[in-house]
Amino acid sequence: MLTQWYLDAANTLLAQTVQLNIALPEMVVLVPNFQAGQLLVRALTQASGRAVLLPPQILTLPAWAETVVLEDIAVLPDSRRTVLLYQSLKQHAWFDEDALWPMSLELGRLFDELTRQALGLPETAEAFGEQLAMAYGTRTQTAITFEACLVHELWYALVARPQEGVSPAALYVMQLAALARTASVPLCVLYESSLDRQERLFLTAYAHRQVVIRLPAPQGDDATACLRVAWTKGSSLHARAQELACRMPGSPWQGRLQLTGTYGLESEAQAAEAQIRLWLAEGRQRIAVVVQDRLTARRLRALLERTQILVADETGWTLDTTVASAGIMRWLDTVRADFPYPDVLDLLQSQQCCADWQATQREQVISHLQGWLRKHGPVHGWSAWLAVMKAHAVDDPLHQVLLRLHHAAEPLLSQRERALPAWLDVLEDSFRQLGGLMHLSQDQAGAQLLTLLSTRKQELRHVSGLTLNLQEFCRWLDHALQGAQFVDSRVDSPLVFTHLAASRLRDFDAVLLLGADARQWMPSGANSVFFNQSVRATLGLSTQTELLEQFEQDTAALLAHAPVTRVLWQLRQGDEDNPLAPGFERLDLLHQMAWGTSLRDTSLLQWVRPGLAQTGTSAGSPRPVAHTRLIPEQISVSAYRSLMDCPYQFFIRHVLGLSAQDDIRADMVKSDYGQVVHAILHDFHRAFPRVTDLSTDAAEAALQAISRTHFSRFSDQDFFVRAWQARWREKIPNYLQWQRDREQDGWCWHEGEIDAARTWAVDDQHHVTLKGRIDRIDSGVHGWSVLDYKTGATNTLKQDAKSADESVQLAAYAVLAAQAVGGDAMIAQAAFVSLDDVATLTVAVDESPPMIAACSAERLVSLFKAMYAGTPLPANGRTTSCARCEVRGVCRRDHWLA
Ligand code: SF4
Repeated sequence: MLTQWYLDAANTLLAQTVQLNIALPEMVVLVPNFQAGQLLVRALTQASGRAVLLPPQILTLPAWAETVVLEDIAVLPDSRRTVLLYQSLKQHAWFDEDALWPMSLELGRLFDELTRQALGLPETAEAFGEQLAMAYGTRTQTAITFEACLVHELWYALVARPQEGVSPAALYVMQLAALARTASVPLCVLYESSLDRQERLFLTAYAHRQVVIRLPAPQGDDATACLRVAWTKGSSLHARAQELACRMPGSPWQGRLQLTGTYGLESEAQAAEAQIRLWLAEGRQRIAVVVQDRLTARRLRALLERTQILVADETGWTLDTTVASAGIMRWLDTVRADFPYPDVLDLLQSQQCCADWQATQREQVISHLQGWLRKHGPVHGWSAWLAVMKAHAVDDPLHQVLLRLHHAAEPLLSQRERALPAWLDVLEDSFRQLGGLMHLSQDQAGAQLLTLLSTRKQELRHVSGLTLNLQEFCRWLDHALQGAQFVDSRVDSPLVFTHLAASRLRDFDAVLLLGADARQWMPSGANSVFFNQSVRATLGLSTQTELLEQFEQDTAALLAHAPVTRVLWQLRQGDEDNPLAPGFERLDLLHQMAWGTSLRDTSLLQWVRPGLAQTGTSAGSPRPVAHTRLIPEQISVSAYRSLMDCPYQFFIRHVLGLSAQDDIRADMVKSDYGQVVHAILHDFHRAFPRVTDLSTDAAEAALQAISRTHFSRFSDQDFFVRAWQARWREKIPNYLQWQRDREQDGWCWHEGEIDAARTWAVDDQHHVTLKGRIDRIDSGVHGWSVLDYKTGATNTLKQDAKSADESVQLAAYAVLAAQAVGGDAMIAQAAFVSLDDVATLTVAVDESPPMIAACSAERLVSLFKAMYAGTPLPANGRTTSCARCEVRGVCRRDHWLA
């Protein structure tokens, strides 16, 4: 849609060359971006009617300024200026160590802004303080004085070091001034409104010596007028809508702009993918995706690349989000934390460690190390790792890996403080020893990272008087990586991911806006920690309002020039509503008032996977069918519970037989505690089936002694062991009292830790066997009692006992106990014994144990019948089950609920 505008611009330029009696190459044309320049060349060729044309010099203003070489001007690179600011802040001790790098960067940005806005500071801190106080409209001086002193002192500290050179921002200003001074060719400017104050001053100065042609911005059509009406604040929107409807009987946006709310990240990415495919099928080639939401963009890119649709990504990501940076930071963190075993395992699993080894060799070492840790317990601290290394032969791969870590860490730890370039040398050396340098250089982001570090080393080599320790160096590195952009320039595609400012004067067949919600669809910047918005305005710095105006102007221009635009956003973020950006909301409201229809359109969601497009619930979850051959013939009580909790969890764990390996545990955890208490009580009751026969002291002494023996299997140096032991010993008198009360009620310990099983026929060919270990069976006058010891929360047990049928456990134990004692009818009680409350409690099921046992058996058989018949096993766990589910990563619940 910009074609005509470019043709008009080309004709104007050609006419100007005639009028000025110059050839086209004698003119400079400033464009907002390189792509706009290409469009202009094409239009000039067409307008000139020639097959070949010598174009004017077309470039952006910064690119033009860069052609000016200023003699004897040293440049102070941003990285070096940040370090100088850091040095000053550190000397003053005004802020915490953690804040020094961010504050140095923030000050650097502020100084650049002052430079770019052609602003200086008064000569004294007092005068600046007064200026600020007036801007703040207050006489309360303390905070203002500090802010004024800080900014003023550091600004002048840099000014007072002319030998350090000028900042790139100041150099740019000087280059512009030189261009204006030596203006020798006519100049033409496209999209002047995007220039900052210094650049506009340059145009004015240039115009004193040469002709400056300012091409008017493209005129909008009815759609632009409509946008202006919607986005102008003032009189009633309703009145404006009525007036608009009189002027324009038909909506200029109908069919040209669609607003689609989606149900989460995945839903937005899928909707975007569907839209792009639809446009490609319609023959639209040049498609822009304007990205305000990087996460969704990442997912969209992956979806598109899955089907070989390539994306030219102009937005890039910060270098610290790349795998290459993560590898370096992981290594430094591991060294700083003195090699905790999880970090060492992570490191070995990464590509950056021992990258010169075969993958299988590395996997064997990792597996061997995991096994070793499982057997011998966790390792922390380099001296402990040395012991592990020595425990393995010199030619053992584990020995070699640990030796390599040792050599790689040595240079980092050999000296406490160093200058930054020295740290960068040491880091390189260390990473080489680790075997990761080669891998980095072969990866695109890794190569950019190495170039960045080498550049920084050069830039910082003459900084004197600043040494940093390892922690400070890591902080610096972190900020340096955050401040660098990684752009993958290998892909050339008409489908581009871009940002709003880079879309100026570009021609697209279709535009998709990603992340157009109120939170994200807004300009970044102008949120400096220095000065509030009104003070910024008073000082002449750009304000949020000005940035917003520019942002709206760019949005309007983009929409106005695109034949079709789809606006996407997520309706909810977590548990909260996520409204559409106010500008689009107002446009839609105006549209409804003027033409009676909304621009909202959900038709695109038909292409989004079911479930994502509806409620964001489990409709998109997996529903596998178990292969008959894989259906287990035996099922434990906990597997039965898993089947009831979530069939998909059962499928993964008990049909496919996948389970997470045991964690390498550093501490005694609650499950260990539970097992120890079970074993203690079993030993105690086997020795003393009837506690009433013992004196209180004797019973307690016996139980205490057995408890000590069991806990002694764990290290008494372990804080957690001692804590769990103390907790149990505290509960012993309560337990003994509960046991005595129980004996009073006629119950007598009969047997513990009983392995039991029961088998049913599912159909003619299949059987299922339920098996389990019963904690305890008591005998009583009315029959048998099956008991399950629990160290968990009593409230949960009460819930489970109330719904024993559903929560399975007691019902299943009742089934097994009946088998053990010789008949369903004999089970008089099924209960949990809650050991964790202030007093030991019996939490028995309300319903008749034989009845719940029969129901439980019947249900188990019918579930297996359905499984053999091919009924799917859906992932439909409740939130509580999902919270502790070990296969959550496989079922990807977080993904399809996103
Ligand atoms: S996370 Fe939830 S839905 Fe997924 S398998 Fe586990 S219990 Fe089932």
